[in-house]
Amino acid sequence: MEKEKPDIRSMTLEELTEELGRLKEPSFRAGQIFQWLHEKMAPDFESMTNLSRDLRRKLEENYQLITLKQADVRISAIDGTRKYLYELPDGNIIESVWMQYKHGNSVCISSQVGCRMGCRFCASTLDGLERGLTASEMLEQIYRIQTDTKERVSNIVVMGTGEPLDNYENLIRFLHLISSEKGLHISLRNITVSTCGLVPQIYRLAKENLPITLALSLHAPNDEKRRELMPIARKYPLEEVLEACDAYFTETGRRISFEYSLVKGVNDNTNEAEELSRLLKGKNCHVNLIPVNPIKEREYRRSSHEEIEAFKNTLEKNGINATVRREMGSDIQGACGQLRRSHLAENRIS
Ligand code: SF4
Repeated sequence: MEKEKPDIRSMTLEELTEELGRLKEPSFRAGQIFQWLHEKMAPDFESMTNLSRDLRRKLEENYQLITLKQADVRISAIDGTRKYLYELPDGNIIESVWMQYKHGNSVCISSQVGCRMGCRFCASTLDGLERGLTASEMLEQIYRIQTDTKERVSNIVVMGTGEPLDNYENLIRFLHLISSEKGLHISLRNITVSTCGLVPQIYRLAKENLPITLALSLHAPNDEKRRELMPIARKYPLEEVLEACDAYFTETGRRISFEYSLVKGVNDNTNEAEELSRLLKGKNCHVNLIPVNPIKEREYRRSSHEEIEAFKNTLEKNGINATVRREMGSDIQGACGQLRRSHLAENRIS
């Protein structure tokens, strides 16, 4: 079997410089190529017009240049949100979302094909994990969206399909490349990475010296309920997860964002809001309340507007910062992973 060529878009500038040395090319070429790959977001070697034909051919022969193919896009008539489906080089399909806010354009990217974490309210995990994405496949979601919309992306949330910390090395590589001064140079402070609570990886991430925001998916105020909704809670109880979050804050000075999906009759009553307040008391944190998006494979329903407001008011009365996440693109298969699932189902039938 032919050996797979190295993925040039996942390489750091230092690695690229070494590669160019191996090809007996001057090292300044590495900077030019890096710029093509990450600032100009070149979809192929052919477009790198300030490189000689000979060098472009050499690159073609020695490396693969990962580029995503747009398989579908849905544009919300309500708020302009765009949901993209991209085809990876191996034929897998992933989903990415572009949202416009007053403070700039935000992209929510996927970090894996599928997910093995099994959260009960999530469509992305229904078929398990296929594989983690490479750094280039994460970058490409942003590059293709910025090319398509012709608008600068200023914020990134790694909250699409997948558990980012379950694809740790590729995630870290991605963070270095997307924030590189010689690439799109997106500030790490504008990047949020969400996790369902992989404790060892949270400690590891705290040591990386990356000023990103960590968002912890909490979804319940106690272990019993959390175990019901998130199988990972059986491995890492709340006490351990919150200790890891405290360590993350101490190490980085970055305030943790706690994500809490409100599911009607499951975790949304006022007693639970009180319990959550006690759990987070004294922490420098922020709670993001997310009205759950129903998925047809599960029976969970969304809390009413009044229930959501009451939950939020209870937190605030207890001195916990909370916001209700504004729903974006509700007319274009809102819940994460749903558009991908319906696309796959349609293609299976046809
Ligand atoms: S919510 Fe996130 S971690 Fe949980 S199953 Fe879905 S994609 Fe995986």
